[in-house]
Amino acid sequence: MSKNASRTAGRHFLQIPGPTPIPDRVLRAMDTAIIDHRGPEFAKLAKRALEGIKTIFKTANPVIIYTATGTGAWEAALVNALSPGDRVLMVETGQFATLWKTMAVKLGLKPEFIAGDWRSGADPAAIEAHLRNDKAHEIKAVCVLHNETATGCLSPIAAIRKAIDAAGHPALFMVDTISSLASTDYRHDEWGVDVSVGGAQKGLMLPPGMSFNAISDKAIAASKTSKMTKSFWSWEDMLNMNKIGFFPYTPATNMLQGLAVAIDMLHEEGLDNVFARHDRLAEATRRAVRAWGLEIMCKDPKYYSPTVTAVLVPEGHDADAMRNLALEHFNISYGMSFGRFAGKMFRIGHLGDTNDLTILGALAGTEMALALSGIPHRKGGVQAAMDYLVSVHGSAARAAAE
Ligand code: PLP
Repeated sequence: MSKNASRTAGRHFLQIPGPTPIPDRVLRAMDTAIIDHRGPEFAKLAKRALEGIKTIFKTANPVIIYTATGTGAWEAALVNALSPGDRVLMVETGQFATLWKTMAVKLGLKPEFIAGDWRSGADPAAIEAHLRNDKAHEIKAVCVLHNETATGCLSPIAAIRKAIDAAGHPALFMVDTISSLASTDYRHDEWGVDVSVGGAQKGLMLPPGMSFNAISDKAIAASKTSKMTKSFWSWEDMLNMNKIGFFPYTPATNMLQGLAVAIDMLHEEGLDNVFARHDRLAEATRRAVRAWGLEIMCKDPKYYSPTVTAVLVPEGHDADAMRNLALEHFNISYGMSFGRFAGKMFRIGHLGDTNDLTILGALAGTEMALALSGIPHRKGGVQAAMDYLVSVHGSAARAAAE
């Protein structure tokens, strides 16, 4: 169909779970002349971005902004707060948790991995039990992904904090919020997180290339005695320069312009409304998947992700072939599958600058791609999603009329 076409009409449906589509207003904010990163105009911008990002992490403490993807901020969390040979407790929620663990090994840490089947979030009870066994308190950090992007499972961070406290364990608590921040509730201070790792390219609606460490006083104190080698990632240099509105090296000026505007937009919509929108689109997506008769990768509803839904295809069918057909015919991209689930599932991202009609378009493309690729399914997924959205909007309209 598109074979002879040199252009594809309309926007690409970027339904990967990040990077997400960038709102025009953010693009326009970034499309501006470069300013002197040692001048007064920059200091104003930096202070606006540094203060603004705290409201997204819900912290009164500093947030470090790196010119790096999320992987850089993972490394920064580990090298600033820990020392070579430290034991760290990690949880195998999926591919990204596995990558963070692999990084910890490469850096000379000793991760202990609570095994998982990639189909649920981290279990607070398992973390508590593991920590109770560490009588000498040799484990120095518990590292968990809030949202495992590879599987669409969300972990209960407040409950994990309680589990660490119940075990009476002093380990630092590090949380990867890369695919949950600015999409679902997250409270760095209230939940007692020591290092929250964030990324720009998902709920924050920015291009990839910027990432964050929100840090507690306890994490800052740990960084004073940390013996890991670090230079670019050093919190100390950043904190000193950030105090006066500057960075130790050339910052990503135009990304900061975009960040400041993206934060304004999130607050204009209202964070709680942003979270409700993500919950609504996630539920609409799951209803479509159930109506198709397909299986949601996340087994337990209490772990359902508000930002990404992974969909298993029936045995003997190829999810990658279906994704390729969908791209070719309907100009839509899905998240790929990893590791033991390679080819067995695809992931529908429903995060960032996304609304009801965007998700319905994506689900319509998916229903057609399922048919085109011969994956056994029932019709009616889009209808189920529409029925759900109409019911939610109907309740809201009735409530407003009362
Ligand atoms: N952690 C999570 C939960 C992610 O989803 C990703 C990437 O998608 C990463 C870490 C790695 O981030 P990046 O690819 O920006 O380096």
